[in-house]
Amino acid sequence: MSNNRLTREEKTMENMVAIFCRHNHKENKELCSSCSKLLEYAVMRLYQCSFGTKKPVCLKCTVHCYKQDMREQVRQVMRFSGKRMIFAHPVLTIRHLLDLIE
Ligand code: SF4
Ligand SMILES: [Zn+2]
Repeated sequence: MSNNRLTREEKTMENMVAIFCRHNHKENKELCSSCSKLLEYAVMRLYQCSFGTKKPVCLKCTVHCYKQDMREQVRQVMRFSGKRMIFAHPVLTIRHLLDLIE
């Protein structure tokens, strides 16, 4: 997997968590502590993925290495922010969708 794709996955996650936090936690421009922890965890999983260079996108993964509570939180974020991403970050979203069908 290219570094570009890893960076893109990280960027996509950052944006999705930011959208979710902004709409649901109504704090300032910074992420709230719970969303910060979630993002930190997701990025850590991304860079420590046991598939290494053959890593699929997490959405297509059959293993799913997330802890149960983090997995549930990330699902909520995806559900909420997924549809909003196309308006907020169209180019990134289209690239991410292309990664999904790769
Ligand atoms: S969910 Fe799957 S693809 Fe994503 S980091 Fe964990 S093991 Fe890797
Ligand atoms: Zn938040």
